Amino acid sequence: MNDLIARDRRVVWHPYTQHGVEVDPLPVTRADGAWLELAGGRRILDGISSWWATLHGHCHPRIVAAMHEQAARLDHVLFAGATHEPAVQLAERLLAVAPEGLSRVFYSDDGSTAVEVALKLVLQAWAQRGEAQRRVFVALDGAYHGDTFGAMSVGDPEPFFRALVPLLFEVRRVPADGDGATVERALADLGGRAAGVIVEPLLQGAAGMRVMPEGFVRGVRAACDGHGVPLIADEVFTGFGRTGAMFACQRAGVAPDVMCVAKGITGGTLPLAATLVREELFAAFLHDQRSRFFPHGHTFTANPIACAVALASLDLCAENDVPARLQAIGDALFDRLLPLRELPQVADVRRLGGMAAVELRTPDGDAGYLSALGPRLRAASIERGVLLRPLGDVLYALPPACVGDAEIELLGATMAALVRDVGPDQR
Ligand SMILES: *Cc1c(COP(=O)(O)O)cnc(C)c1O
Repeated sequence: MNDLIARDRRVVWHPYTQHGVEVDPLPVTRADGAWLELAGGRRILDGISSWWATLHGHCHPRIVAAMHEQAARLDHVLFAGATHEPAVQLAERLLAVAPEGLSRVFYSDDGSTAVEVALKLVLQAWAQRGEAQRRVFVALDGAYHGDTFGAMSVGDPEPFFRALVPLLFEVRRVPADGDGATVERALADLGGRAAGVIVEPLLQGAAGMRVMPEGFVRGVRAACDGHGVPLIADEVFTGFGRTGAMFACQRAGVAPDVMCVAKGITGGTLPLAATLVREELFAAFLHDQRSRFFPHGHTFTANPIACAVALASLDLCAENDVPARLQAIGDALFDRLLPLRELPQVADVRRLGGMAAVELRTPDGDAGYLSALGPRLRAASIERGVLLRPLGDVLYALPPACVGDAEIELLGATMAALVRDVGPDQR
């Protein structure tokens, strides 16, 4: 175990990790359901679905079987000029459960690439319609859309991308409000320069589990309609039941023009992403000139094993009614956490679907993602046998759908204990 950590320290660079101060990484040897087993045999509960991905639990037998079966039949084939059953069937089934109006699926590898594809499709379509000046997206304060350059540009540069701001393209950034008036004003102001609007519908994860009113998403839809620009829904986090509906847009009663999905698409087991679009966007690329195609594709686009696993995950979503199950888990967690509202160190307790969060008060200058509370609470939760990874001063849980009552109780009790331990004065 110590050997693994020593070797890791010599050769690995971890994501979102300050190696100058980081504690030893967890040596994980196996996983089963909601549990991670560490070298030496200790088990800890995965309270955050391994970065918001694991949907049905780790190493679910049906997912593992789909992976094995497909790997033995067709492991990989290029997706330009070739096709295969898992990719076609997955496109059919994604479109069948997606918000209405979406009719085409473009595959890629992860949430960031799904967003890149969405932005590039929209921009190139404008150019091909003779409106190349439509280049400015409207995006939200606190937005997070991934770590590639386009995704960083529409994301809020604070706190992650400050050093790269000079290289990011122009975006009109507005706060979410009650009814979308902020977005309406931005679109009116941009006029013929507006390319579209991108939002994480209902729930901004990386911003600190911020919940927005359903009326806001509906207002954004109306503003987009009024100005004739597409609404891009980044459902990379919110998709596949996390908000208590299959997709957050459906919960809000809104149909986007473009929808990005990743994370939960394979039940959180293999990298795969998809950008779903309406037929009119696809049609903007149809032409007898080959140069007007969409020159974008990743080596592992529509990897058959990932697609087969995604099909198995969709089966499980339907059989176990994962959105309803996650909603029930969120209900139970929220009941457990709500009384913490009375504590002086607690600023807010909030939830949506299967996510429940406690926002803590911090001393001046220590708020947000980089709050010193984050690493402290993470270490304390692992000590108590639960993997939580606070977004700075926001302690949250979003467990996989397989957790039972005892596991929910352990999660809730651990979060409550952590919040109490912060104390009114130590903050
Ligand atoms: C995680 C996330 C992304 C980026 O997805 P990756 O698979 O990490 O590239 C994009 N948008 C949202 C809303 C996310 O939560």
